Amino acid sequence: MPDSIPELQADHDLGHANTLALPSRAERFWLARRECDVVRGVELANRHDWDLTVLGGGSNVLLPPVVGGLTLRAELDDVSFMAGEGGAVHVEVGAGVNWHALVQRCVARELWGIENLALIPGLAGAAPIQNIGAYGVEIGDVLDWVELVDRRDGQRRQLRREACELGYRDSVFKRELANQVVITRLGLTLSTRPSPKLGYGALGDRVADPSSAQAIFEAICAIRREKLPDPLVTPNAGSFFKNPLVSRSLADRLLSAAPSMPHYPQPDGRVKLAAGWLIDQCGLRGFREGAFGIHDRQALVLVHFGGGSLEELLSFSERIVGAVRAAFGVVLEREPRGIQTAAL
Ligand SMILES: Cc1cc2nc3c(=O)[nH]c(=O)nc-3n(C[C@H](O)[C@H](O)[C@H](O)COP(=O)(O)OP(=O)(O)OC[C@H]3O[C@@H](n4cnc5c(N)ncnc54)[C@H](O)[C@@H]3O)c2cc1C
Repeated sequence: MPDSIPELQADHDLGHANTLALPSRAERFWLARRECDVVRGVELANRHDWDLTVLGGGSNVLLPPVVGGLTLRAELDDVSFMAGEGGAVHVEVGAGVNWHALVQRCVARELWGIENLALIPGLAGAAPIQNIGAYGVEIGDVLDWVELVDRRDGQRRQLRREACELGYRDSVFKRELANQVVITRLGLTLSTRPSPKLGYGALGDRVADPSSAQAIFEAICAIRREKLPDPLVTPNAGSFFKNPLVSRSLADRLLSAAPSMPHYPQPDGRVKLAAGWLIDQCGLRGFREGAFGIHDRQALVLVHFGGGSLEELLSFSERIVGAVRAAFGVVLEREPRGIQTAAL
């Protein structure tokens, strides 16, 4: 261990650094407040041939008891706004900026584009990884570029949105570039021109003034607070499963048995189903086994009551996957990401 490097912390506790509160320790931890610190961290990992794990707010990860190699958090916290043409405002955001605080700040400046993404936990740098989305909006709708440090050659580069290959809870960062890059900064384009997106569910009924981004922001915060457990009170990682995409023929078969099943036809011919509804139909809402359970107001959220391990969580989640597969023939896929040093 090169212990002469002050930024490098050995055996760092990550129990409070993941919203599921899974017990975990980082073999080595590196906090990078500037881009040059990210480059140094990446160089260090490369020189010692350590695994490199990038951690943001820990709200979408399943941490193993020990994260080997180097765990790096990019805490660049700068935000800048630049007026463009036709009401466009270009926003540059450091990876370490709290996502919800950014949304709040943009809404306060009467900028439109990310108000529907209020109250999503985590840091801005992680937002493109799964193309965060909520209430009919995804970050991909406003993302222009991502700046990163590439582990493969230690170089900084910028990826345009098209190169990020954003999809539903998906991006190139979960595939070809998984564990290869550290995102340091994002470029977004927002607008001073109102563009309310109220089509999702009953959102429109909850918004007092649709011409106000602040009113939409507040409605979304209120709905989310009603539905989702606060990770600080009840540890969780938000939606534990993705909404499954199934073939039209399977969706038709399921619909003939349950005509009220929520279903959303996709442009590619497949149909998106609501994972929470499927779990609910299996009678599992509120089900608890040991340290883990299914939230009683939102069947998509698995909660940790304390004292549990990753292994127990995975076996609990497999029971849910098995129940849904048996009842509907649909295979649920996990949303939070496993860290490579665990046997996941
Ligand atoms: C209560 C709750 C509600 C949620 N609601 C939503 C929702 O509505 N919509 C939604 O999309 N998600 C939701 N999530 C999931 C989560 O908040 C998002 O995925 C968020 O973007 C994760 O950010 P984070 O900083 O916590 O990332 P982490 O959990 O720390 O990391 C997530 C992944 O990104 C990688 N990563 C993190 N930072 C970087 C970086 N700088 N460079 C490269 N890779 C990086 C990590 O290695 C990991 O693979 C919710 C979670 C919770 C707990």
